[in-house]
Amino acid sequence: MDRRVLEFHVLALSFGREANLASVKVAVIVGGVGGARFLLGVKKALDLPAVGEGEHEVTALVNTGDDVWLHGLRICPDLDTCMYTLGGGIDSERGWGRAGETWTVKEELASYGADPDWFSLGDKDIATHLIRSRMLRAGYPLSAVTEALCDRWRPGVRLLPMTDDRVETHVVISEDGERKAIHFQEWWVRHRAEPTAHKIVPVGAEESTPAPGVLDAIEKADAVLLAPSNPVVSVGSVLAVPGVRDALRKTGAGVVGVSPIIGGKPLRGMADKCLEAIGVDTTAAAVGVHYGSRHDSETGILDGWLVHTGDTAHVPGVASRALPLIMSDVDATAEIARAALSLAGADLG
Ligand code: GDP
Ligand code: CA
Repeated sequence: MDRRVLEFHVLALSFGREANLASVKVAVIVGGVGGARFLLGVKKALDLPAVGEGEHEVTALVNTGDDVWLHGLRICPDLDTCMYTLGGGIDSERGWGRAGETWTVKEELASYGADPDWFSLGDKDIATHLIRSRMLRAGYPLSAVTEALCDRWRPGVRLLPMTDDRVETHVVISEDGERKAIHFQEWWVRHRAEPTAHKIVPVGAEESTPAPGVLDAIEKADAVLLAPSNPVVSVGSVLAVPGVRDALRKTGAGVVGVSPIIGGKPLRGMADKCLEAIGVDTTAAAVGVHYGSRHDSETGILDGWLVHTGDTAHVPGVASRALPLIMSDVDATAEIARAALSLAGADLG
C-alpha cells in the first residue's frame, strides 16, 4: 500500500471511531521496564486516573517469557514491573522491584549457600511471589492470579499475561566448546548478556495458547500499540504465542510500534545482544522492518512506526514518524503515546 492510501486508511479509522470517543479501547504489547513506563504515558494520554478505573480501557498484553521458578517461587518479572509501576509501588530508580525494599531473606538464603544466588528477591517482593505461587499450586491460572494481585495495586489498566501456559525463554550459548541452553534470566542477570547468544527460543510458546482476553483485546481495540520494549525477548515472546500475530494482522484497529532503539543503541539494557542473535541490526529502521507491514508483507504487523528525532526508518508499507522518544517523565511519555494513538487512528481530538 502506498503512503497516501495508508494515510487515508488512518484518517478513515479516526473518523469512523469518533462516535466511540467516549470510551477508547487500547491494547498495548509490553515487557517490563520500558513497557511499564510507556503504559504510564498511555494512561496519562487517555486522562486515566493514577489509581483505579477511568472511562477508557487499556489492556496490557504482558510478556511472560522471562518467568522463572526460583526457591520454589514463581517469579514474573515483567508482570510485576508493570503492576508495581502502575500501582505506585515500584523502586523508580532501579526500575524494578519494590520501593523501600529490604533484603533479609536474600541474605539468609546466601548464608545457607542456596542457589541461585545471582537473582535478587527483596522481602516485600517475596510476598507477591508467595501469594502467586500458592495460588498457582492451588490450580488458579496465571491470569486469575494476576487479577487477584491487581486488586491490591489497582494499576488502572488490565494486565493480562500473554498466556497462562508455561513459556520460558532460553538462550543458546557456547561453554567449553559446547553449546548449551540456559534460562534467559541466567544469561541476562547472571552473565549480563556477555556470552554470545547463538539462538533465543521462547520454549513452550509453540504449544501455548493466549490467555483469556488477549485475542479479544486485540480484535476489539481502537488502537494497538507496541511499547518500546525489547523486540526479541519482550514483544517477540508475545508475538510467538500462536494466534497473536494473526489477531494483529486482522484487527480493525491501527497497529503502531514505538522504537526502543535510539541512535543505533538501546536506551537501557542489552537489546542489541538480543537483536544480534536474531540477525537484526540495532537500528530503529531494522527493528521496524523486522516487525514489518501488515499490508506489504506476509507476516508483518505494523501500520505505523515511531522513531526518535534524527533517526530514519523506511519500512515499506508502514507510516513512520520521528519525534522525541525519550521517556524522561510521564508528560514526555504521554506525548509519545498521543502520537502513537493518533497514528493508529484513535485520535483523542
Ligand atoms: P525489560 O523487560 O525490563 O527489559 O523492559 P522492556 O522489554 O519493556 O523494555 C526494554 C527496552 O526499553 C530497552 O530495549 C530500551 O531500549 C527501551 N527503553 C528504555 N527506556 C526508553 C526510553 O526512554 N525511550 C525508548 N524509546 N525506549 C526505551
Ligand atoms: Ca523483561
